Amino acid sequence: LTSTEETVLETIEDEDIDFLRLQFTDILGVVKNVSVPARQAEKAFREGIYFDGSSIEGFVRIQESDMRLIPDPNTFAILPWRTNEHGAAARMICDVVDTTSGEPFAGDPRTVLKQAIDRANEMGYTVNAAPEPEFFLFEEDEEGRATTQTNDAGGYFDVAPKDLASDVRRDIIYGLESMGFEIEASHHEVARGQHEINFEYDDAISTADNVATFRTVVRAIAAQHDLHATFMPKPIAKVNGSGMHMHVSLFTEDGENAFHDGDDEFDLSETAHAFLEGVLEHAPAITAVANPTVNSYKRLVPGYEAPVYVAWSDRNRSALIRKPAARVPAASRIELRSPDPSCNPYLALAAIIQAGLDGIERGLDARDPVRDNIYEFDEAKRAEHGIDTLPSNLGEAIDAFEADDVVQSALGEHVSEKFAEAKRQEFEDYLVDVSQWELDRYLETF
Ligand code: GLN
Ligand code: MG
Ligand code: MG
Ligand code: MG
Repeated sequence: LTSTEETVLETIEDEDIDFLRLQFTDILGVVKNVSVPARQAEKAFREGIYFDGSSIEGFVRIQESDMRLIPDPNTFAILPWRTNEHGAAARMICDVVDTTSGEPFAGDPRTVLKQAIDRANEMGYTVNAAPEPEFFLFEEDEEGRATTQTNDAGGYFDVAPKDLASDVRRDIIYGLESMGFEIEASHHEVARGQHEINFEYDDAISTADNVATFRTVVRAIAAQHDLHATFMPKPIAKVNGSGMHMHVSLFTEDGENAFHDGDDEFDLSETAHAFLEGVLEHAPAITAVANPTVNSYKRLVPGYEAPVYVAWSDRNRSALIRKPAARVPAASRIELRSPDPSCNPYLALAAIIQAGLDGIERGLDARDPVRDNIYEFDEAKRAEHGIDTLPSNLGEAIDAFEADDVVQSALGEHVSEKFAEAKRQEFEDYLVDVSQWELDRYLETF
């Protein structure tokens, strides 16, 4: 056993941990877990835990369904909402191994992201990322089901008592901190019932793990307050939706920020410019991965601080990529504003990283930034600036995904195929549905 694994075993003893949840995500980003008695931890480290992968979305066919989970000891954390006088539960995030070949399983999103990071490493870089997840808190009805009734009428940066949710937010933050999160800030967002919690940047794998954990913690702690937390991108029409802006930078092996160049007008290095242009070129296909639900496209419309147009800026927030002001060289980074919190964070980061690395490999130079509010441009003005539009629905996004070899190979053949198939089906289900909007609009008119 490694020393980190030894430490985990000691903590299990000292903290009276009864159960271990071994966690991973399916290709849709849904967290799955197998619970095992904590005394099996050593066995889990040595041999892994076998499970049947056939019923996991996008994993395997029934005839090849034996999978093995190998827990990553660095992700050991006690679940703050499962601790009582009888003992405690902890979780570890796992890598999935194909039992037949003994190789990392190609359908495991964490493996997909590791491959993107390996490629960055081969090119001499490490990858840092930080998300800005937003979410809504809604009341539950008498049966405990989610409604779209918000429990407060607060707005951007409001403080209590209007921001009634600040107690919940505080408990969420305590929960996250007890699991090792470094919280940077939290605030009420623009819409009523909408919140944002920011945590410290980390390497890309830890950040994806953190997003998966974050969503679980927020939901569990909100539920303790009889509230339903949702990461659905646009739960209420005509108000701001929930995004998950993603900040990314590359560092060199000796810890220098490869995105920083103080002599550049934007403080961005050639490497950063190339990466940025790579992401812009592959933006339509990345959208399928970073905005993977039918509902995601209700958010990507003009007027609600969400991006619609493929452009970058060092100033305004209507662009797809923003270059945030950086106080120190280490903080030079780009901010991709399209991702929403319904995405699979492993796959979204893999797609973004591989698109950016493609830009570096091809030695691309960034197009000119657009400093005006692009929401106010008409089609002619957009054409004049060469500004494309993001896919306007999930169907178009999947088309763009299937036309983009770089983004498809970022996910690998297995995941790309399963992902496109599942999403195509989701979009078709939506197209044949008759919505409340249609009934309201037509039922009595015709
Ligand atoms: N909610 C906005 C979005 O959908 C972002 C608002 C903000 O953080 N400025 O991306
Ligand atoms: Mg923010
Ligand atoms: Mg925000
Ligand atoms: Mg932001």
